[in-house]
Amino acid sequence: MQAATNIQNQTLTHAFHALKCKECGAEYELEAKNVCELCFGPLEVKYDYSNLRKTITRKTIEAGPNSIWRYQKFLPVTSENPIDVGTGMTPLVRSHRLARRLGLKKLYIKNDAVNMPTLSFKDRVVSVALTRAKELGFTTVSCASTGNLANSTAAIAAHAGLDCCVFIPADLEAGKILGSLIYSPTLMAVKGNYDQVNRLCSEVANTHGWGFVNINLRPYYSEGSKTLGFEVAEQLGWELPDHIVAPLASGSLFSKIYKGFNEFVEVGLVEAKNVRFSGAQAEGCSPIAKAFKEGRDFIQPEKPNTIAKSIAIGNPADGIYAVEIANKTNGNIESVTDAEIIEGMKLLAETEGIFTETAGGTTIAVLKKLVEAGKIDPEETTVAYITGNGLKTQEAIQAYVGEPLTIDAKLDSFESALERSRTLERLEWQQVLV
Ligand SMILES: *Cc1c(COP(=O)(O)O)cnc(C)c1O
Repeated sequence: MQAATNIQNQTLTHAFHALKCKECGAEYELEAKNVCELCFGPLEVKYDYSNLRKTITRKTIEAGPNSIWRYQKFLPVTSENPIDVGTGMTPLVRSHRLARRLGLKKLYIKNDAVNMPTLSFKDRVVSVALTRAKELGFTTVSCASTGNLANSTAAIAAHAGLDCCVFIPADLEAGKILGSLIYSPTLMAVKGNYDQVNRLCSEVANTHGWGFVNINLRPYYSEGSKTLGFEVAEQLGWELPDHIVAPLASGSLFSKIYKGFNEFVEVGLVEAKNVRFSGAQAEGCSPIAKAFKEGRDFIQPEKPNTIAKSIAIGNPADGIYAVEIANKTNGNIESVTDAEIIEGMKLLAETEGIFTETAGGTTIAVLKKLVEAGKIDPEETTVAYITGNGLKTQEAIQAYVGEPLTIDAKLDSFESALERSRTLERLEWQQVLV
């Protein structure tokens, strides 16, 4: 056992200096380890903020690279050259048409549907995890994934020259499967749901000595999500928003946006504010929303059944921390049906020109539901986190987007098709009106 005592002293050059149990506070060395040996609680990276407060200013950050690595001092890596494939600094879009539709005055969309290199927020956590994996001497990296994580791990491992074996549930969308295979990893499609994949991977992690980004490397991996908090604060002109809405799978992303905001306050980069945290789940997999609504302090695991596969985790590791944060900040956790998720995807596309996947549809549908219930004030500066790209989950909306008008390459064919489509539109409008 390697508890509290012999912690490496890296504080002179690096602010992170230990892994610490979120439950009992026991400290460990900075190795590949995610569970406390004393109480089985999750481990988290601990920093010396007094050191950061002295060395970091808005200017030093603004002078950094145009990627997540402008926040390197807040991330658990020591490399001079971390793996930088342009991850992060995605657009924070001021919404006008969606805002008006919902009746909000200051709505922003944080658009990780265009994150690099694989079009989801997972590129953030994987860039950090694989940089750390190399530092710790791993030559093979792996993960238990709902789809996007496998895409990111395979792509960034290819870039970094690491061997890669990733695990997914066998029933994922074609775009998610192809989006991993193109990088030629070993891809294990497990007959089972994510929670079964995860259990299998925990066993493999113990026997094969691989770096599993979201298992034994999880404390480092999860820190990457803080950059979704940092970027929003910086992009709002070094200010925190009033309210954020984000999707919940394991609850890690949600908890780390919270940690990111608090760190910026702690080191004096932004003024303190109670940011309200609201979480989004699909009704077909909503163990965190149910715990929140029933006022429970434990998660009741469930079997997922939803089109929002990327956030379908029935036994979420950080679920209880998400409930805590929503309660503490006067936020909410809501769930929506698959039909509402599809509407959410279409609504964001039609009002903002952003094509998100089912997870983003979940976020937008929950945003709408919270506004309609009076749980988001129109005056609040609100940020909705869009975490993935719609091109990866085409089968979810295929039946709901209409069809192209196929015509001959002749002017009259075009004119009559145009007339038919306008008549159809008028009819649809009449149906809406009656
Ligand atoms: C993984 C994922 C999430 C949520 O991740 P957690 O950190 O496990 O809560 C949200 N959106 C998308 C698109 C994802 O792939």
